[in-house]
Amino acid sequence: MTTTDWTSVHDMLRNARRIGVASHLRPDADALGSTIAFTLWLQSLGKEVHAFNEEGATGKFHYLPQHALVALPPADPGFYDVFVALDTSVKKRLGTVLEHIAPGTPILNIDHHVSNERFGDLNVVDPTAPATGQMLVEFFRMSGTPITRDMATNLFAAISTDTGSFQYAGTTERTFAAASHLISCGVDVPALSREMYENQPRRRFELLRHALETARFECDGRIATFSLPLEVTRRLEVLPEDNEGIIDHLRSVEGVEAAVFFEELPGEMVRVSARSKFPRIDVCKVCGLFGGGGHPMAAGARIPGTLADVSARFLDALSHETRN
Ligand code: AMP
Ligand code: MN
Ligand code: MN
Repeated sequence: MTTTDWTSVHDMLRNARRIGVASHLRPDADALGSTIAFTLWLQSLGKEVHAFNEEGATGKFHYLPQHALVALPPADPGFYDVFVALDTSVKKRLGTVLEHIAPGTPILNIDHHVSNERFGDLNVVDPTAPATGQMLVEFFRMSGTPITRDMATNLFAAISTDTGSFQYAGTTERTFAAASHLISCGVDVPALSREMYENQPRRRFELLRHALETARFECDGRIATFSLPLEVTRRLEVLPEDNEGIIDHLRSVEGVEAAVFFEELPGEMVRVSARSKFPRIDVCKVCGLFGGGGHPMAAGARIPGTLADVSARFLDALSHETRN
């Protein structure tokens, strides 16, 4: 984020009184943590802020301070002077929240996805940041904005989860500088980490057990996959939020270069979640072939078709990418 970017952000928000803030569907801690921190900041400026997510701040995110600020979209659309989209690469990923943005509402788009479609009237997109939360820390610091402990905890959760606990590509000295600053603002790292990583529902463990039992290794063990049929989702009573991170167990195996998770959704639709272990394998490009996007080493798509059909087509495209 450059000085010009943050000056433009301030200019855009200065005279706005009523502001909507939202992030992508199937939210993660970067989406929600960024939404909550940005909302708290706008409130401190005296703005009337309405924060949404298609799914609200679902159960497992109860550890994010002030998560109750994030509501489900209300029945009646409101009117906003500015609408802020955070951590959202394409407008359609706002889901049903989109219906709450009146045509012509100026959109401020703050995101770190390389595949961001610049759908805003002002787009602040930094693919070198591993989390939207890091962009916000840098923005607040550049503008001399105090970061409260609640804001800091939300932003730390955003950065910690999107970087796989400070491991993934994009984790740089800027990331540690941001995290260090957040700790100086009062984040209790062990307590927060316990909530984020050591408080998984039993359901999720059963899902992991299923994944480990049914995982497949293709292309001489370079690609690992796991499929989740709807019937299993129903039997194990898995919630969408339980899936996150399961795929990392597949990627962590020696020799695996890319991992893919195929989740059957109702209506002959498959949600694909792809991860790569090496920068030379660009899963964002492969997901892009199917109308999805994300980051070079972590991307997704929603593809119409059956599990068998979608996984065959996707693996074919991915095997070309891993061969290059
Ligand atoms: P996931 O595999 O769902 O954790 O997503 C990995 C990354 O890809 C995230 O940054 C998502 O925002 C992005 N992503 C996932 N699904 C899609 C999609 N259908 N279209 C665009 N980006 C996506
Ligand atoms: Mn996200
Ligand atoms: Mn993110």
